[in-house]
Amino acid sequence: MSLRIKKLLTMDPDENEKLITAEGWVRTKRDSKNFCFFEINDGSSLKNLQVILDKSSEKIVKTIDKISTGASVEFTGYLVESPGKNQKVELKAENVLLWGESPAETYPLQKKRHSFEFLREIAHLRPRTNTLGAVTRVRSTLSFAVHSFFQSNDFLYIHTPIISASDCEGAGEMFQVTTLPLDNIPKTKNGAVDYSQDFFGKQSNLTVSGQLEAEIYALAMKNVYTFGPTFRAENSNTSRHLAEFWMIEPEMAFCTLEGNMAVAEDFLKYIFSYVLEHCPEDMEFFNTWVEKGIVDSLRKIIETPFVHMTYSDAVKELEKSSSQFDFPVSWGADLQSEHEKFLTEKVCNGPVIVTDYPKEIKAFYMKMNDDGKTVRAMDVLVPRLGEIIGGSERENRYDMLLKRIHEWGLQEEDYWWYLDLRKYGSVPHAGFGLGFERVIQYITGMQNIRDVIPFPRTVKNAEF
Ligand code: ATP
Ligand code: MN
Repeated sequence: MSLRIKKLLTMDPDENEKLITAEGWVRTKRDSKNFCFFEINDGSSLKNLQVILDKSSEKIVKTIDKISTGASVEFTGYLVESPGKNQKVELKAENVLLWGESPAETYPLQKKRHSFEFLREIAHLRPRTNTLGAVTRVRSTLSFAVHSFFQSNDFLYIHTPIISASDCEGAGEMFQVTTLPLDNIPKTKNGAVDYSQDFFGKQSNLTVSGQLEAEIYALAMKNVYTFGPTFRAENSNTSRHLAEFWMIEPEMAFCTLEGNMAVAEDFLKYIFSYVLEHCPEDMEFFNTWVEKGIVDSLRKIIETPFVHMTYSDAVKELEKSSSQFDFPVSWGADLQSEHEKFLTEKVCNGPVIVTDYPKEIKAFYMKMNDDGKTVRAMDVLVPRLGEIIGGSERENRYDMLLKRIHEWGLQEEDYWWYLDLRKYGSVPHAGFGLGFERVIQYITGMQNIRDVIPFPRTVKNAEF
C-alpha cells in the first residue's frame, strides 16, 4: 500500500521494518559513495520525504544514474528515525522504481528561485513548486470551507447558468456566445445583427454574475448560494482582475442590509479561521516567504469587529487627506483602489464595510434609500487589497424597481421575470458577491491574482 507523504511524515519510526511504498516527483538528489539521498514530493504537503537508497546492486546504481529532478519515482523501504531536525522520519529504501525520467538538460524547474512571471509561462509544471503547491492546497481547502460555512448554516447550493441572456450589471464587459458565422453574419433589414438566427434566438453571453438567478431561488428557498465560474471581458491588466474567475454569491430572503453585513463578516472570519486551522504549514510558508506577518493579521481580523461606515462619511474622511491621492475624492465619484486601501489601512486599521453609495455608481437593482440619492449597497474593503466583497439589499418594491429599470435605459421586457418576483411574494432580500481568487490572494499574500488560479485567463492569454 502506498501512503501519501503528508501521512508518512506524521508516522513514527517502524521497528518492525514493515515495507511501505512512497511515490512522488524528485525535488533533489544527492549522490555519495554507498548511498543516494533524495527528497520527493507528492503534492500532499509542503514538506518533502527524505529517502536514503542503499546502492546495494548494480541495477539500483544504474537506475539512480537515470534519476534527476522532476522524475517520477516509487521507493520501497521502511520508516526510520531521521537524524535531521526538520522531520521525525525518513524512508530507508531498499528498492526504487523509475516511472518517468526528466532530462536535466531541458527540465525548466531548477533548484533556484524562479520568478512568478516565468512560472506562468510553464503553468503545466508550476504546481510542482513550493509556492504554487501551497496555493493549490489552500485553494482546495478554502473551497471546502465555503461550502462548509453555507451548508452548516442551511444555505442551499444553487447552480446558476453559465450562459445567460441577461446582463446582471446592466453594463458591458461581456463575452458573447454565438454560433453565427463570423465571416457572414446575418443582418436584419436595418443592418443590425439578426440574433433571431443565433443559437438561442437572442444575444447571449457568458455570465458576469449569478445573482439575478440566485434571487429567484432565494425567494423560494430563503437562503441560497452559488459558487461558480464568472466571466468578465475586463480589458485591464491589473494584479486583481481575471477574465475568468470564481465567484461566491449568497442570497438571503427576509434579510436586509444589516443581516447581509453580518453574514459577510461571519463568512470571512469563518473561512480565515478554517484555513489557519487546516493549512498551518502552508500558511506558515506564506507568512515567511510571501507576506511577513500575514498569519497574525488574519488572526487579528478574526478577533476584531468590522468597522461600518457610510459612503458619505468615508468621503469626508478621505477629503481630509485628499492631497495624498492620484484620483480626486468627492461625493458622487466611485472610490478608487487607493482610496479603499487608505480607508482600511490608515483610517480603520482593519476591514471596513462601506454602505449607502450614490445610486449613480451602483447597479439598478439595489434598494433605494429614502433620501432618493443613495442605495443600500455595501462593499467590504480590506487592507492591502481594497474591495473583496460587493453586495446590497435588493430593491424589492415593484414600482421602484420599474422606475430604476427605466432610468437605466434598460428594457422592461428583458426583466419580466425579475419584476415578477416583486409582484408575487416579494420580501426584503439581500446578498453579496465575493471573488474567490481575491480572497485567496488576501489570505496568502500573493501579489498577483494570476498566481492563485491554476490557469489564469487574462487579455491575450488563454494558454493551457
Ligand atoms: P472591481 O471594482 O474590483 O473591478 P467590481 O465592482 O467590478 O470589482 P463586483 O461586480 O461587485 O466587482 O463583483 C463582486 C466581486 O467579484 C468583487 O468584490 C471582487 O471580489 C470580484 N471580482 C470582480 N471582478 C473581478 C475580476 N475581473 N477578477 C477577479 N475577481 C473579480
Ligand atoms: Mn470590475
